[in-house]
Amino acid sequence: MGIRGFASFLVIFSLCLLWGGDISAGQYTDEYSEGEVLVKFGPRALDGDMKAALKQVNGDIKKKFRVVNNLVRIKLRPGMSVPDAINLLAKNPLVVYAEPNYLRYASGVPNDPDFGNLWGLDNTGQTGGTPDADVDAPEAWNITTGSSQNVVAVIDTGIDLDHVDLAANIWTNPGEIAGNGIDDDANGYVDDVYGWDFYANDADPNDTTACSHGTHVAGTIGAVGNNDAGVAGVNWQVKLMALRFLGGPFCSGTDADSIEAIQYASEKGARIANASWGGSAYSKSVEDAIRNSGLLFIAAAGNGGLDGVGDNNDAKPQYPSNYALENIVAVAATDHNDLRASFSNYGTATVDLAAPGVDILSTVPGSLYDTFSGTSMATPHVSGAAALVLAQDPSLENWQVIWKLLQGTDDLGLQVLSGGRLNAYDSLLLASPLKTRNEETLLSYSGSWSSYSNPSFSGGRGRVSRQAQAAALFTFTGSGVKWVSARARNLGKADVYLDDVFMQTVDLYYPGTLYQQAVYSNLALDPGTHTIKIVVKGQKNPKSRGYYVPIDAIDVVQ
Ligand code: CA
Ligand code: CA
Ligand code: CA
Repeated sequence: MGIRGFASFLVIFSLCLLWGGDISAGQYTDEYSEGEVLVKFGPRALDGDMKAALKQVNGDIKKKFRVVNNLVRIKLRPGMSVPDAINLLAKNPLVVYAEPNYLRYASGVPNDPDFGNLWGLDNTGQTGGTPDADVDAPEAWNITTGSSQNVVAVIDTGIDLDHVDLAANIWTNPGEIAGNGIDDDANGYVDDVYGWDFYANDADPNDTTACSHGTHVAGTIGAVGNNDAGVAGVNWQVKLMALRFLGGPFCSGTDADSIEAIQYASEKGARIANASWGGSAYSKSVEDAIRNSGLLFIAAAGNGGLDGVGDNNDAKPQYPSNYALENIVAVAATDHNDLRASFSNYGTATVDLAAPGVDILSTVPGSLYDTFSGTSMATPHVSGAAALVLAQDPSLENWQVIWKLLQGTDDLGLQVLSGGRLNAYDSLLLASPLKTRNEETLLSYSGSWSSYSNPSFSGGRGRVSRQAQAAALFTFTGSGVKWVSARARNLGKADVYLDDVFMQTVDLYYPGTLYQQAVYSNLALDPGTHTIKIVVKGQKNPKSRGYYVPIDAIDVVQ
């Protein structure tokens, strides 16, 4: 596939920094795959309509996804540029959205192997750091060392399937017979015994020594423990699903390939996905795929862009970690003194917690070991801890696992939602949380919003307002809260305050209709009585047709 050169990427990215990210509509300043677009058609679009739209932009369907209805990857024929195709498609009333197939990059880098040590799991000061600045893995292992029932999808550069410290924990597809040239489980992939390589489109998802990134990530999640070899992962037993999509220059991959990997993981029974990669471009297709996948999606907060100095993701978004979905956990990195790594992105609204991510020793291809740094390395510590939590109680829902991860952190006053660094042991010690869905009438409510009972807003009962500065104030007792609403074409923006402190602005615009979404969620509150205030901003996304802000329900975690 044609990919815009790295040099032009550097220039364009620098301009972005100068412009402060304020980019006029119709210009795509992030790298994307030339000659391709991702298009979602509406529910009423027929095959004939799609064909007509494709003819209009001189394109062919390269892939039809299942994880997002009517989402297709379109290959454009020579002479049709990506911006021109998107502008044409955007005018078609049957198209929900059309966007470039953006590139994403691995968020980790190798560094000095001399520092190699598993300080993140158990810090005794062996690297000159602070004892106990770690995730308390040995203590957690007294409760559980993981379960081979847990499948964790490593959506990355692949995994060295034969690594002596990984081979026993590699997932195999029970529905597929190896090497018979037949797609036995009818999932669209022939002989996908060990996962799939979505970059090269073949059945061999082995990592390469040029990247090594996915193998390193896999080792932190689940290098075989207690086997007299190399390292131990956060889990000693687990199943690692190797899904390779970062196979391009500089270990890059496209959104379309990541969507296929997410779809594969969801369909083949993975419970958790580790995403140690990202980029600054927003993709609705990827957001929809993650939402629909049902996966507990653990994503790196990112490494500060080209200057390598950590950025505030609240102001300068990084995706996929910034998508406002309740199944995403965004992870920052700390060092062996429990300080945020200088490269690590952060954000009290958009990054959930931190985990060790500096000088992390793990597996690399060839049954070797190496030390890498990055939020890429912090993320698999959290994926691993999530797998331990699920090994202890497989019945937990995503939000319950996330609540345990956030409530279990050691609070260090870091600039993340929980303020803390992962502590796997403390997460395992917590009783499982319960959630009550309080229709707004059951909550202590004050405000002047209109009630609705048979709304076109979100199919529930609740309140709505479009009056700027109108405030809905709810008082509740608990350790977590969610605002449940719709996202749709005619909705506006609102500010959320917790205990009178501004948290974030929520944009309810979506180019379709999504019912009963958790549009704001905070599972990291101290147990007690709190208030959540939702204030209509009287502003809207430029594409939105209205300013309405609905509240269907407030969920409270007890
Ligand atoms: Ca400890
Ligand atoms: Ca198959
Ligand atoms: Ca087969």
